[in-house]
Amino acid sequence: MSAPDQRQVEHFIGGQWVASRRGQRLLVINPATEQSIATVPEATGQDIESAVAAARAAFPAWAATPPHERAGHLRRLAVRLEARTDEIARTITAEMGAPLAFSLRVQAGLPVTVMFSFADVTASFSFEEKIDNSLVILDPVGVVAAITPWNFPLHQVILKVAAALAAGCTVVVKPSELAPLSADLLAELAHDTGLPAGVLNIVHGTGPRVGEALTRHPGIDMVSFTGSTRAGREVARRAGETLKKVALELGGKSATVILPDTDSDLFETAVRHGVRKCFMNSGQSCNALTRLLVPADQTGTAVELAAAEAGRFAVGDPFADGVRIGPMVSAHHRDRVRGYIQQGVAEGAQLAIGGFEPPAGLDRGFYIRPTVFADVSPAMVIAQEEIFGPVLTVTGYHSEDQAVDIANGTPYGLAGAVWSADPDHAATFARRLRTGQVDLNGGRFNPLAPFGGFGHSGFGREYGSYGLREFCEPKSLQF
Ligand code: NAD
Repeated sequence: MSAPDQRQVEHFIGGQWVASRRGQRLLVINPATEQSIATVPEATGQDIESAVAAARAAFPAWAATPPHERAGHLRRLAVRLEARTDEIARTITAEMGAPLAFSLRVQAGLPVTVMFSFADVTASFSFEEKIDNSLVILDPVGVVAAITPWNFPLHQVILKVAAALAAGCTVVVKPSELAPLSADLLAELAHDTGLPAGVLNIVHGTGPRVGEALTRHPGIDMVSFTGSTRAGREVARRAGETLKKVALELGGKSATVILPDTDSDLFETAVRHGVRKCFMNSGQSCNALTRLLVPADQTGTAVELAAAEAGRFAVGDPFADGVRIGPMVSAHHRDRVRGYIQQGVAEGAQLAIGGFEPPAGLDRGFYIRPTVFADVSPAMVIAQEEIFGPVLTVTGYHSEDQAVDIANGTPYGLAGAVWSADPDHAATFARRLRTGQVDLNGGRFNPLAPFGGFGHSGFGREYGSYGLREFCEPKSLQF
C-alpha cells in the first residue's frame, strides 16, 4: 500500500499558510488501515476572523477583474491540477478510501474537467443583459463560505471555488474534516499560479464549530453547502438569522426505472448499469441510483442479474488492482450502513447477496459487503432513507403511473435513470419525475448541465452557466 506520509496541514489565509495559534488538531484516518496519516487544525475564532477579513479585503479588486482574466486564472489552475493527477488521486484514496482507479478517473479527473469548463464558461458568459429600458448586470454576490463533504473531497471544493471565482466572488472554504488533504493541494496551486492573496482561503475544522461559525458570520454573504440533509437544514436555519443567500446540495435516494417495453438485452444492460451507478465510489455518492424499479413480473430476473453484477465488485484495499469497493470513510459511517442492512432484514426484505457481516478476510478497515435486497416495498426504511453505502433495493411496480409514484415517493429528488426501447417514451416518463437530473438509456454525465435537487435534496444548481449564476445577484439599471 502506498499512502502520503504523516502530514501536518495548516490553514491557507490571505495567500499564506497560517499555523493555528491555540486550536486543537484533528487526526485524518486512512479508512483502509485505521491509521492516522495527517493532522489538521481546528480553526479558532481568530483564524475564522482572519480568513473572512482576507476574503473581504480581496473582494473589490477580484470583482473588478475582467472575466477573461478570471478565466485565465482558472485555466492556469486547471493545467496545474492536471499535472498533479496521480498525487491527487493517491492522496484522496488514502484519506477517504475510494479505489485508486476510480480516484484517478473521477476524484482527480473530474476537478480538472470542471476547472477547464468554468474557464470556458467564464470567458463566454453574459454578465449583462438588456431588457427593454433596463440593463441587467450580474454582480458577484460577495464573500462565499464553501462547506464541503468527504465523498468527492476535491471535486466538491473545485465545483464551488471555480464557479464563485468565475462570478467574481472571493471564498473561504471549509473542507470536510474527514478528508481535508486534497484541499491543501489546491491551496498550493493557487499560491503557485499567482491567484491574488485572499481570493481563496481555506480553514479546517469540524462542522459544528467551524462550519457553524462561518454560517453565522456577518462578513459572509453566501453559504454554498454540500453535505447531509441534516446539516443542510442547520445551515439554512443559521444562515437565515443573518439573511445570507444559501445554496444546498444535499442527499438523495435516486431510482433507476426500467420500463416494460425493454427487451431482454436492454433489460440486462439497464440492471447492470443501475448496480454500477449504485456502487460507484463504494456507494458513497449523492446521486447514487440506490433503488431499482422494474415491472413486477420481472423482479426475479432483475434480482438475479443485480446479484450477479454485485458479485463482480471486489472489496478490499483501495490501492490494490481490481478492487472496485473500498472501505467506508469511517467506523461510524460503516456502522450506520450496517445498521441499515440489519434494518432491511428486520423489515422483511430478502438479501439476494451481501449482508451486515464484515467481508471475509478483511480484519482491518471499515468494509461493507456489496448488498442487494429483493422484496423491498416502497415504504420500508431502506427504500426511503439515504444509506450512503453499496446497498441496492429492488422493487416491482404494476403500472407506469405506480412507477412514477414510487420513484417520486421519497423526500429526496436529486437524480434518476429511465430505460426504454423508445427514447421518446423514456423522455416522456422522465418529465414526470420530481428530480434534478435524469439519465435516459445510460445518457452520459454532462459537466455543463445544471445539477441539484428538488425537496430534501436541496436548492440551487451547480456546474456550467447555471452554477456560475448561483453566485451572482442581478442588478437592474433603468434608462
Ligand atoms: P455532513 O453533512 O456530515 O458534512 C458536510 C460538511 O458540512 C462537512 O464539511 C462538515 O464538517 C460540515 N458540517 C456538518 N455539520 C455542520 C453544521 N451544523 N454547520 C455547518 N457545517 C456543518 O455530510 P458528509 O457526511 O460529509 O457527506 C455526505 C453527505 O453529503 C451525503 O448526504 C451526500 O448525499 C451529500 N452530498 C451531496 C451532494 C450533492 O451534490 N447533492 C454531493 C456530495 C455529497
